[in-house]
Amino acid sequence: MHRSRRHFIQRPQCVAAYRGQLTLDSSLRLTAHWAWERRLTAKLAELPFGEETITETILLDLATQHPREISVFPFHSRMEGRTGADWGWCFHDSAAGRFTRMLVQAKVLDARDQTYARLDRTIGNTSVRQIDRLLETARQRRCPALYAFYNHLSDASRVPSSVCTCFGCLQCWGFLSLSLTLSASCSAEAESGRL
Ligand SMILES: [Zn+2]
Repeated sequence: MHRSRRHFIQRPQCVAAYRGQLTLDSSLRLTAHWAWERRLTAKLAELPFGEETITETILLDLATQHPREISVFPFHSRMEGRTGADWGWCFHDSAAGRFTRMLVQAKVLDARDQTYARLDRTIGNTSVRQIDRLLETARQRRCPALYAFYNHLSDASRVPSSVCTCFGCLQCWGFLSLSLTLSASCSAEAESGRL
């Protein structure tokens, strides 16, 4: 059994933030709604609520709510530099007896609703772009690489209608994942950093 799954199973005091019988799909949807609403609140309050805070909350909630379905591996700055990812996660499909690993780099839409900051950032003092390091790590580990975008848009008409998976809401757009390893065009689109 993987270390992080054992960690939660042996520590019943690790209580999930949302008690009850949420499915993983429901939790992921709630995560999107939560990110949207927190970013809205931060904009209105003119206070920071950034990428790291959102990431840490999402990972804590998903890992404690679904310890048998998902394992999370947050990467601190040194590991982020080495992998190009903010975290790895591993979904466990018990019915199929299968794990699916992914590497994820998170970006937050700025408060002016225009740009994902630092999409073109390089690693440390090197000229290696973060996205290239992420793609290389994914290739070596033979797993998908994703961008996770945290969003709130004040102009609702800019939100694509196809994203919602519940009741035609805007909030489902709060946490959007984009695969970087499906095709070169996906990667080019993400790199442009514009909506
Ligand atoms: Zn929705």
